[in-house]
Formats: sequence, C-alpha cells, structure tokens
Amino acid sequence: MNSAATDELYDLAILGGGPGGYAAALRAGTLDLKTALIETKRLGGLCLNEGCIPSKALLYVADILEETRKAESHGRPQVVSVGLSEEEARRRGLEIEVGCYSLGGNSQALIAGESRGLVKLVSEPGGRLLGVHIIGPRATEIVSEAMVAVSWEASAQDLGELIHPHPTFSEAIGEAAMALVGKPLHAPARRRGRAA
Ligand SMILES: Cc1cc2nc3c(=O)[nH]c(=O)nc-3n(C[C@H](O)[C@H](O)[C@H](O)COP(=O)(O)OP(=O)(O)OC[C@H]3O[C@@H](n4cnc5c(N)ncnc54)[C@H](O)[C@@H]3O)c2cc1C
Repeated sequence: MNSAATDELYDLAILGGGPGGYAAALRAGTLDLKTALIETKRLGGLCLNEGCIPSKALLYVADILEETRKAESHGRPQVVSVGLSEEEARRRGLEIEVGCYSLGGNSQALIAGESRGLVKLVSEPGGRLLGVHIIGPRATEIVSEAMVAVSWEASAQDLGELIHPHPTFSEAIGEAAMALVGKPLHAPARRRGRAA
C-alpha cells in the first residue's frame, strides 16, 4: 500500500482492502482496468487481521493444547526418579545391584488396563537403596514411599518386608524390592544383576 498522494488517473478506485476489496481489485486487474485499492488501516481487512485467519489459528492451537492434555491417556507414562540412577552410580564407581519389576505383574495395573511400566531399584549389594525409578501410571502417587526409603537409607530387604495393600499400584515397589533380594512374589524380576 502506498500512502503517497498521486495525480495518476485510474479507471477504478476501490475503498477497503479486505476480502471484498482486494478480490474486486484483482478481478478489475484481469479486466485490464487500471485500479487503485485504497486502505486506511491494514490490507487484508477483518478477515486476514482479526477474523478468519487468526481465529482459525487460535482454534488450531486450542486443538493441539487439548491433545497435549490427553497425552497421558495416549500412552505417555509418568516418570519419577529418586536418588541415583544406575548410570550415575556406575559413573561414580559404586558397586551396585539393580532390580526391575514390570507392572505386568501388578494386579491393580492389570485391573486398570495400565500395565505398561516398571519399577527399578538401584542398591548397594545387600545394603542401602541408592535410587528408585518408576515409569508408569500413578508413578507420582506411589513415589513417596521410595523417597522415604532412599532418604532413610533403607535396604531392599527392609522395603520388601513391609506389607503393601493389595491390590494397589504401590505393591510394585515392594515387589521390586523382593525381586532384588531374590524373593519375587507375583512375578520374577525382569533383570537382576550385580555390577562393579
Ligand atoms: C472472528 C471471525 C471469524 C471469521 N471467520 C470467517 C471464516 O472462517 N470464513 C469466512 O468466509 N468469513 C469469516 N469471517 C467473516 C469475514 O472476516 C468477513 O466476511 C470479511 O472480512 C468481510 O470482508 P470485507 O472486505 O467486506 O470487509 P472487511 O474485512 O471488514 O474489510 C474492510 C476494509 O475496509 C477498510 N476501510 C473501511 N473504511 C475505509 C475507507 N473509508 N477508506 C479506505 N479503507 C476503508 C477497513 O480498514 C478494512 O480493512 C469471520 C469474521 C470474524 C469476526
């Protein structure tokens, strides 16, 4: 848009550069009419600057936001981590043993149809727990027990001896501990190993 005054002569002057105005100007151009499109604000009018395009962009963003909110039910698990990871413990040169328990053996997870996930324990061999890591449903709700266990330097033996309500997701922590000390109750440990 050129705001400078002009002495040029036109066949047609169109007031308003919205969809009505610019479409008319384009049509006039194809008819070989020398056309001036005059706009006081911004070309595109209500449609381009406030109405159709911005509102559709906002609706699109709202759709994406809604999908993001549903991400958990679309399969994204909760992930929580307390203390040292296996990698960090190894990096520090600690002697550790690691136990994993699959939620596939947890009754409540099976009832809820959410049995994808695991509890992983990192421990000194026969000694205190160094880390607890949980991937799966309700991970953020059952992690508190792990926080107490790691911060009070409990062992997997201590944790495994505690009675966990049944059926609950929290049982998975007790199961992981029992698996680590070689006494799995509802499922064998998926992995048990000792590493220097
Ligand atoms: C929220 C919202 C969503 C919408 N979504 C859709 C949609 O999905 N699909 C659809 O088809 N329509 C939609 N619309 C309607 C669409 O925006 C309008 O139908 C369309 O903008 C009308 O075009 P127009 O050129 O007639 O007027 P406008 O777009 O209003 O353009 C008029 C232009 O003229 C200028 N002007 C006014 N007076 C003068 C003057 N004296 N001299 C020079 N310039 C002047 C103004 O500054 C303005 O730029 C929507 C509208 C809104 C509010």
